[in-house]
Amino acid sequence: MSAPIPFNRPYMTGRELWLIAQAHARGHLSGDGEFTRRCHAWLEAHTGCRKALLTHSCTAALEMSALLLDLAPGDEVIMPSYTFVSTANAFVLRGAVPVFVDIRGDTMNLDERLVEAAITPRTKAICVVHYAGVACAMDVILDIAARHGLAVVEDAAQGVGATWRGRPLGGIGTFGALSFHETKNIISGEGGALLVNDAAHIERAEVIREKGTNRSRFFRGEVDKYTWVDVGSSFLPGEIVAAFLCAQMEEVQAITERRLALWNRYHEALADAEARGRVRRPVISVDCTHNAHMYYVLFRTLAERTAAIAALQAQGIRPVFHYVPLHSSPAGRRFGRVHGAMDHTDRAGDTLLRLPLWLPDLDIERVVEGLLGHLA
Ligand SMILES: *Cc1c(COP(=O)(O)O)cnc(C)c1O
Repeated sequence: MSAPIPFNRPYMTGRELWLIAQAHARGHLSGDGEFTRRCHAWLEAHTGCRKALLTHSCTAALEMSALLLDLAPGDEVIMPSYTFVSTANAFVLRGAVPVFVDIRGDTMNLDERLVEAAITPRTKAICVVHYAGVACAMDVILDIAARHGLAVVEDAAQGVGATWRGRPLGGIGTFGALSFHETKNIISGEGGALLVNDAAHIERAEVIREKGTNRSRFFRGEVDKYTWVDVGSSFLPGEIVAAFLCAQMEEVQAITERRLALWNRYHEALADAEARGRVRRPVISVDCTHNAHMYYVLFRTLAERTAAIAALQAQGIRPVFHYVPLHSSPAGRRFGRVHGAMDHTDRAGDTLLRLPLWLPDLDIERVVEGLLGHLA
């Protein structure tokens, strides 16, 4: 049999080790050196955020947003259940209650039409997840948030390089959280960033990220003592990680274009199977320019998805599914609450399948043939 096709393979541009060698030669290995500054400048230029701060993960960036919003036990955050655990955990760590609302059946994003009815006097924020790098209906979300005085946190872990009405994801809400985990489009192994879009939060974000100290202001010469001023933790990556990420940022456009070519190939190849009602393909609204983070299909039933996985695995191809909806997980039941029916969430948990999508040399035709053969 031909070589197995893994679900993901981390892509290297070839410049990572060169930049890491430069970081090494500079002799500054802790955080916030030259390479972190370059990443911040890149993020600020490419997302329009007021301030970008590298973190060691998207999870950490979400935790920082929960600290910045001063969430207290019993406060509520409206979010989808069809997401990665960090979306909820970051707020649960502060004692807040995730209020799970169903997703849309077309985009797998939080259904904006259901959000307002889930608001209570304890609601403090709406956390949206731009699933597969396809934006949520941000006009509706921002309008609801403004009318009810709520913060908007964008879990844009999958959204680097994607836009909504021309605005980069993560640069739209109060805060945006990006991920550079090795399964994302641009990577540093583990890594992330907090995007601060409201200038009023910048100074405190720097403090929280630097163990609750005013170290950033001290190094800028704005204060003459460096001391403990607020709660905080260590949320910043070292320069080796930032140097690796710099190499990836330099190539983001080419990476996105090459991923889009693969995405479009899947999309075109599966049109007929969709017309025959065997699978449903992703839907991209006219408001969205996506980043080809993910190609997925929806089967009609769990049994049909299970059969497709078995057929592909028999050919050495490793598709994956996700998520166990958070509202039905043990911790989700313990810490969260459901508002309304969760039909689309449950359906996606049962029927969505992600196909391998990675650079540089994925044998996509083998995946296409395997799947079309099974669906014939
Ligand atoms: C990957 C991902 C995360 C977590 O990112 P890390 O950088 O691994 O912490 C959070 N939310 C979503 C939607 C993700 O896809």
